[in-house]
Amino acid sequence: MSFTAQELEARKQAIAKSRSEEEQRETPARRRIAIVTGSTSGIGEGIARALAASGCNVVINGFGDALAIERMRMMIEAEHNVTCLYSNADMTKSEQIEGMFSTVKEKLGPVDILVNNAGVQHVSPVEDFPVEKWNLIIALNLSSAFHTTRLAFPDMKARKWGRIINIASAHALVASPFKSAYVAAKHGILGFTKSTALEGAQHGIRVNAICPGYVRTGLVENQIADTARARGISEEAVIRDVLLAAQPTKEFVKVSDVAAMAVFLTTEAANQINGAALSIDGGWVAQ
Ligand code: NAD
Repeated sequence: MSFTAQELEARKQAIAKSRSEEEQRETPARRRIAIVTGSTSGIGEGIARALAASGCNVVINGFGDALAIERMRMMIEAEHNVTCLYSNADMTKSEQIEGMFSTVKEKLGPVDILVNNAGVQHVSPVEDFPVEKWNLIIALNLSSAFHTTRLAFPDMKARKWGRIINIASAHALVASPFKSAYVAAKHGILGFTKSTALEGAQHGIRVNAICPGYVRTGLVENQIADTARARGISEEAVIRDVLLAAQPTKEFVKVSDVAAMAVFLTTEAANQINGAALSIDGGWVAQ
């Protein structure tokens, strides 16, 4: 098949037009603003760094050594040429979450990407489960996502674009003994993900859950000792017979695996992924 010079020119122009439309869809007029709760360490830190690398201004949050957090904030700004704010809001306190949202809006603008990641674990037989630990886990691992989501939704709806990523767990899909509060909260956040995904679907908002298997962060290091105590076995046995026994690959999930998925969910290619539970667990829940 041969084309005249005029036809070739028309085709070139059509391709250039469709490329520029695609770019416009993928490149927002301003940098996107992302909040990652619980991002002073572990998975949240990895996600915050990856979102900054993808060009977002990011808000990091969580507890820890003030100097180390400030160093991290400055490094993110310097490495990725973005703005990075730190909020010390306690995600178990609704008024502090509200304060964080108004400060972010005032300093950076409305939130485009919300990653609900802050979470803790406690391992204990249910009859001995400390009531304050139950209340903490439900408040942090579940209710904090309700507060951040209710605060993020109005601006996302108004701007017709928003991405909410809930860091759930394989424990949102299956249970383990001695983790009643965690399993309850993680199953709960998956239900919350689905419900809010339906509410946002026609407003350009996408809500998804990532369900990682074991990632060797501080949260898991503490669990190894606690599980050894609860089951009366050694820490080596916990790693071999409990943690990696669950994962057919016999490998821990990496923080970077979870961070890459979170960034993907913010791209145009993920536009039809909504209300999903995305497992990154080496095949754990497939068994
Ligand atoms: P981590 O302990 O390394 O990080 C937890 C973060 O939450 C820290 O930044 C901490 O300062 C912050 N945090 C704790 N209490 C807070 C509060 N009240 N308010 C605000 N921030 C608070 O743990 P991680 O392993 O990176 O866990 C992050 C998320 O990933 C959690 O929701 C966890 O359930 C989930 N997850 C972890 C694994 C794993 O194997 N590590 C697997 C599946 C899911």
